[in-house]
Amino acid sequence: MFDLKKIVRPNILNLKPYSSARDEFSGQNGIFLDANENPYGNLNRYPDPYQRGLKARLSAIKKISSDNIFIGNGSDEVIDLAFRIFCQPSIDKALTFAPSYGMYDVAAAINNVQLIKIPLDNDFQIDVNTVNPFLSNRAVKLIFICTPNNPTGNTMETKAIQQILENFEGIVIIDEAYADFSSKASWINQVNKYPNLIICQTFSKAWGLAAARVGMAFTNPNIIRLLNKVKPPYNVGQLNQEAALEALENIGLFEKHKELILKEKLNLKNQLADLPLVKKLYPSEANFLLVEVEDANVMYQELVNQKIIVRNRHKLVNNCIRISIGTPEENKLLIECLQELCVMYNGR
Ligand SMILES: *Cc1c(COP(=O)(O)O)cnc(C)c1O
Repeated sequence: MFDLKKIVRPNILNLKPYSSARDEFSGQNGIFLDANENPYGNLNRYPDPYQRGLKARLSAIKKISSDNIFIGNGSDEVIDLAFRIFCQPSIDKALTFAPSYGMYDVAAAINNVQLIKIPLDNDFQIDVNTVNPFLSNRAVKLIFICTPNNPTGNTMETKAIQQILENFEGIVIIDEAYADFSSKASWINQVNKYPNLIICQTFSKAWGLAAARVGMAFTNPNIIRLLNKVKPPYNVGQLNQEAALEALENIGLFEKHKELILKEKLNLKNQLADLPLVKKLYPSEANFLLVEVEDANVMYQELVNQKIIVRNRHKLVNNCIRISIGTPEENKLLIECLQELCVMYNGR
């Protein structure tokens, strides 16, 4: 049986969090002489530590209670908080799949936690048989599942995730940074079914707010309390909360840009398929394409020389580059550049 108390680090379970001035009194009206703020200026007041306005709007849009929502300084903050809440440095372990998002490695290393990496199968799916032996290992506290996965672009099969959720007594973090682009259902509505489930989403991709650093976690109120206890009190700035709220008020624009990106992804895919230097195009439920080419290192450098920057993923997937979908103009320039490269390298 999953028992949250058993997997939280004892020092975090016993932690008495910092109580900020805005925790003790959070009303709107009054004479505020409690937080040593400057009485003059526009950004002179500390922001709401619990981002209540933003959560109320998100609650309506995502059809989930505000009590199930945590807002982070990017979803990368949620990843780091998970290590700090659940993993004793140098003792506990975390697990993820390979290839996947590089921040799991970095956050694990910063927290001095070993990250076990299980290879995905040939279709970049989770082979549950390879994970099973780790599910009963009490030292493993976290499992990260990225779906749609970065850098492969595919979603993970529901059955495999369900099996992990049901048989693992630690925390399962489903990273849905790209879920807005996917035709597959989000795991958000499962949050109250599985007490060990945390879902991460972000304003950085489909919402177009990478600069604002606003991420979301959806989970049960018990885990929300832990996240709130450990986060810095004012982890999301006022301007960033406002930027996220403004994006949510403008869902029409969000949908329009998303549709444009998805349409361009299809275009780009078709045009890439015609290029002799392209060996394989992987199916993508995200806003990028993973492309196998003749020589990823050479192609990456040639594109950089033309001031087109893609992501060389050769070290993760042999001879693959990851291409984010740009504007129609940017994508056109990319294709023209690649066509020239094909001529150049075939005529060698
Ligand atoms: C881009 C990305 C994120 C987003 O991180 P933020 O800190 O919210 O910008 C999270 N997970 C994955 C897999 C990503 O690719």
